[in-house]
Amino acid sequence: ERARLSRLRHTPAVTLDGQTVELLANIELPRDASAALEAGAVGVGLFRSEFLFMNRAGRLPDEDEQFEAYRAVVLAMGGMPVTIRTVDVGADKPLDRASSQEPRHDHMLNPALGLRAIRWSLSEPDMFSEQLRAILRASAFGPVRILIPMVAHLSEVQSVKQWMDRAREEVTARGQAIGEVTLGAMVEVPAAVLILPSLLRTFDFVSIGTNDLIQYTLAIDRADEAVAHLYDPWHPAVLRLIAQTIAQANAMGKGVSVCGEMAGDPAFTELLLAMGLRSFSMHPAQISSIKQRVLRADARTLQLALPAVLDADQPQQACEAAMRTSSKSG
Ligand code: PEP
Ligand code: MG
Repeated sequence: ERARLSRLRHTPAVTLDGQTVELLANIELPRDASAALEAGAVGVGLFRSEFLFMNRAGRLPDEDEQFEAYRAVVLAMGGMPVTIRTVDVGADKPLDRASSQEPRHDHMLNPALGLRAIRWSLSEPDMFSEQLRAILRASAFGPVRILIPMVAHLSEVQSVKQWMDRAREEVTARGQAIGEVTLGAMVEVPAAVLILPSLLRTFDFVSIGTNDLIQYTLAIDRADEAVAHLYDPWHPAVLRLIAQTIAQANAMGKGVSVCGEMAGDPAFTELLLAMGLRSFSMHPAQISSIKQRVLRADARTLQLALPAVLDADQPQQACEAAMRTSSKSG
C-alpha cells in the first residue's frame, strides 16, 4: 500500500482522455511546504499569508520577515509555482494587532460584509505595499502568482495595479531583483463572476474561493451552525456561477483554478473537470484521493451530462444528475 501511494505521488494527474490536470496545495505557513511536496503537489495554489500575521502577540512581520517566509516556500517548491494570497484578515480571521490601534475592527456591524481582505489592504496602504514588495522580492527565487482576495469592484483592481506598479519601482530602485510574477483575483463574490471579463482584462488568472462564494451567493454565514444545513455547494446558483467563471476564463485564455473546499472533495472532481477546470488547489491530505478520481475520469463523457446538472432546480437534483455521470465513467 505504501509503495502504491508512493507511485501515485509521482504519477502525473492525467484523465483517461489525456487531459493534464494541475493538483496544487493550500498552505498556511512555510513549514506546510514539506507536506505539499510529500503529497505530490505540482505547486502551491493558495498560501494563506494572513497566518503569518496571526498569533503574533501584537508584533506583525515586517517586509524582511515576510520576504524570508515567502522565499522559504518558493525555494522549497524548487521552481514550481507558488501562489501567495495577500492578507485576508477581517471576518473570521481577526488581525492580531492591539485593538486600540484597530478601532474600526471593534465596531464592525457585520464582519463578513465589512472591512476584510482586499478592502482591508487598500485601507492600510503601507502594510499592503510592504507585503507586495516582500512577495516581489521572493519571486527572484522562483515563479510567484499573487492572488488578491474578495475582489468585487473594478476600482479595487485598478488600485491593486497601481500599488503593484509602485512596489515594483521601489524594489527595483533598491537594486533588488524581481522574477516571474503574475497577478490574479479570487472569485468569492457573485459580483466578481458577473464582471469577470472586466476583471480578466487586468488580471492574469482567477482562483475560485468556493467557501466564500457559497456564503455570499446563498447569504449563509459559513460559521453559523443555525444555518449550516442551507450551506450547500450543490445549490444550482453556486454551480452555475462556478461553471460560468471557468468557461469565461478558458475562453479568454486566462488561468482558472478552484482553491475552496470543493476542489478537495472527490464528490465534485468529475463535475469540475466537465466544467473545464484543469487546476485544483486543496489541503495536501486530499491530493492523493483527488488524483485517483482524475486518473479514472473521462472529461468528454462527463461533459455530456453537464447540462442536466446545471439545469437542475434543486441541489438534490443537481447532485443526482452528477452522480449518474460519475458512476457511468467510474
Ligand atoms: C475560499 O473562500 O474558498 C477560500 C479558499 O478562502 P478562505 O477559505 O481562506 O476564505
Ligand atoms: Mg475566502
